[in-house]
Amino acid sequence: MAILVTGGAGYIGSHTVAELLDRGEEVVVLDSLVTGHRESLLGGKLYVGDLRDKELLAKLFAENDIEAVIHFAASSLVGESMKDPVKYYDNNVYGTQCLLEGMQKARVDKIVFSSTAATYGEPEKVPIEETDRTEPSNVYGETKLTMERMMSWFDKVLGIKYVALRYFNAAGAHASGTIGEDHRPESHLIPLVLQTALKQRESIAVFGDDYPTEDGTCIRDYIHVSDLADAHVRAVTYLRSGSGSNFFNLGNGLGFSVKEVIETAKEVTGLDIPVVIQERRAGDPAVLVASSDKARSVLGWNPSRANLKEIIRSAWNWHSSHPSGYGEA
Ligand code: NAD
Repeated sequence: MAILVTGGAGYIGSHTVAELLDRGEEVVVLDSLVTGHRESLLGGKLYVGDLRDKELLAKLFAENDIEAVIHFAASSLVGESMKDPVKYYDNNVYGTQCLLEGMQKARVDKIVFSSTAATYGEPEKVPIEETDRTEPSNVYGETKLTMERMMSWFDKVLGIKYVALRYFNAAGAHASGTIGEDHRPESHLIPLVLQTALKQRESIAVFGDDYPTEDGTCIRDYIHVSDLADAHVRAVTYLRSGSGSNFFNLGNGLGFSVKEVIETAKEVTGLDIPVVIQERRAGDPAVLVASSDKARSVLGWNPSRANLKEIIRSAWNWHSSHPSGYGEA
């Protein structure tokens, strides 16, 4: 039986496909390649198409014996979601509805869902725990929370079991150095900093250095993409064992400041990284980190690449050997 990975040609999806293949799983990928890259797939059977194409989904489920789904396909830019909410409800919420409908018809009853810590919004306290209030402060986070709630009802009514994984910033690249992060536009700090080191950008903007943190810059949570991939595979194992639906944070508990990331990148690359301090951005909390105690104890997840230098070194290995990413326009 195979595992269907939606969005499997994306950044986290492709690393998860690599992890599944390593463990001898049969993999089917559905990806529209709207932000993903065919070249990022190290194997598996690819269907190029949209999640919202119900006929394609029916064909995919008919042609493959799918045991479980790992669902990454989504639009995930916070800023864009605040300008174009229709796109986010359509791709994320309606897309998930189509997927769940396809699963129901094909009698597939397990789904692991790539959610986000943006479901919490402004945190009540840090590190954030799963029992904390969820009050998203942007459309992206709201659509992900809606997708989680939809899954909860599909479980209650139809018995489709789900695991939702909530995390902040995926970072780093595969140990082989052959796949890594290539978002266009890029909005994540570590690739932006490394592109600055490569002189593809003039400088890196730091939004505010007067926050109530040790060095004045915001603290954020970074998780190595291969540790995330491992967590998604563990979540499949959890559902296979007959455990019920659940949701988990995947976080590093401590976080790293923006300055710390830049300084570590200078050390790893040995290159100059010019910084420009700018005004704080509206709605940027000082510290955003999640506790992953629950994932550690229930899923046995033990992120083995949590060290910032190691995360940046693996990202640098990819960016310095693939300065144009996967290369296409
Ligand atoms: P990505 O853009 O690299 O991957 C998303 C993939 O989904 C792409 O390959 C894209 O082509 C595909 N896709 C999008 N809409 C589709 C549709 N309607 N039909 C078929 N394919 C479609 O993003 P990523 O950084 O790998 O993130 C993957 C998931 O993880 C997203 O759901 C995102 O919300 C979530 N997430 C990401 C981060 C992060 O730091 N990158 C953090 C928290 C959560």
